[in-house]
Amino acid sequence: MSHTTYPQSYYAASANPVPPRPALDGEVETDVCVIGAGYTGLSTALFLLENGFRVTVLEAAKVGFGASGRNGGQIVNSYSRDIDVIERTLPAQQARLLGEMAFEGGRIIRERIATYGIACDLKEGGVFAALSAKQMGHLESQKALWERYGHSQLKLLDRQGMRDVVASDNYLGGLLDMSGGHIHPLNLALGEAAAVESLGGTIHEQSPATRIERGANPVVHTPRGRVRAKFVVVAGNAYLGNLIPELAAKSMPCGTQVITTEPLSEDLARSLLPQDYCVEDCNYLLDYYRLSGDRRLIYGGGVVYGARDPANIETIIRPKMLKTFPQLKDVKIDFAWTGNFLLTLSRLPQVGRLGDNIYYSQGCSGHGVTYTHLAGKVLAEALRGQAERFDAFAGLPHYPFPGGRLLQVPFSALGAWYYTLRDRFGL
Ligand SMILES: Cc1cc2nc3c(=O)[nH]c(=O)nc-3n(C[C@H](O)[C@H](O)[C@H](O)COP(=O)(O)OP(=O)(O)OC[C@H]3O[C@@H](n4cnc5c(N)ncnc54)[C@H](O)[C@@H]3O)c2cc1C
Repeated sequence: MSHTTYPQSYYAASANPVPPRPALDGEVETDVCVIGAGYTGLSTALFLLENGFRVTVLEAAKVGFGASGRNGGQIVNSYSRDIDVIERTLPAQQARLLGEMAFEGGRIIRERIATYGIACDLKEGGVFAALSAKQMGHLESQKALWERYGHSQLKLLDRQGMRDVVASDNYLGGLLDMSGGHIHPLNLALGEAAAVESLGGTIHEQSPATRIERGANPVVHTPRGRVRAKFVVVAGNAYLGNLIPELAAKSMPCGTQVITTEPLSEDLARSLLPQDYCVEDCNYLLDYYRLSGDRRLIYGGGVVYGARDPANIETIIRPKMLKTFPQLKDVKIDFAWTGNFLLTLSRLPQVGRLGDNIYYSQGCSGHGVTYTHLAGKVLAEALRGQAERFDAFAGLPHYPFPGGRLLQVPFSALGAWYYTLRDRFGL
């Protein structure tokens, strides 16, 4: 059987030590079989275990192998489409529930870190950076909108205020969210996996679910074993492939790339981001960056389709980094990697149930560090028979991508081109 390891990322190179997690061999019986050990799967497993369920997690590769172990590490509130869009398009009661949940994921992450003592370089504070007057206007509305939902840790920054937190001349202003922040994403996932095991849950790595036998007691098959369960939770996101064809049609895997510099001197690091906040700009195809625990600049940006080799990634992302920080022109890039997130046409998560006992959550469209933690709680509530919050997500409408799976990549490339133009000309 093939053995899949992490990409050569900064996160894999600086991961906390972990125990061996053998592949599933033989048959086991449990209450819930979770497919995928990213944040969605691990968060669901943890909430279920805390509520007395027996849980077996199947991971095709390694814990945090997918987006959860490769992302920008930015704790960003709300959803990829903000609450204003939700309010405009959904019934009032459903919109209210979704709005009230928009800030919960970040709180769950902090609770997990505190309760289970997870070492993942948590730092508080995140900034949304405006590149145009239109984007600044949008941030002003966003602040008012979030405050309407009880969020009180927001501060608008003018050009000078922005210059005080980011040493770049690119921005007109920004919005500081002190309940945003950043983490070492793989170490967060590894800490959550250890928490799952500390509560008696089992995680099998190198154990892809290859088939689900649906029915009153579903059975999940892997190459060398099977799990008989009362419930299945599908949390494979962009790496799920075609395991559940009805989900694949309404979502599309997209690649985004990240580079990491060599460690910067303390003076240089502090001159770039004096308060150590993370930053994302307001473009649709956004740039996002932050300092690591050992003072490297971690910089991601854009959406590029298909697998890329590290040299190629550096060619694409380094110019973006230098446009923001020309002062880094002599700094070496130590790591470059790619990861996939799952896009839906509405950019809202795809959540639901197949039959009575197969649950899923996926497709948070590149903005999932907080949402996935909330998703675990909401899925666990639904399995316990409290489905009001689950139903608010499950009622979000989703549409197939035009042309179906085969045409998804050309369609998405067209979409990326359109959004690049939109960002460039401030449309
Ligand atoms: C490069 C990058 C940067 C990002 N930056 C940010 C950011 O800064 N902030 C933010 O909020 N969001 C960010 N995101 C998005 C965020 O990382 C994701 O939304 C989130 O991690 C998704 O978590 P997940 O558990 O749903 O999926 P994943 O983390 O992708 O986990 C899915 C897991 O399921 C496993 N799996 C798949 N199929 C099977 C199967 N058949 N059997 C068993 N296991 C299976 C996979 O191996 C994988 O480990 C970024 C994404 C990428 C790719």
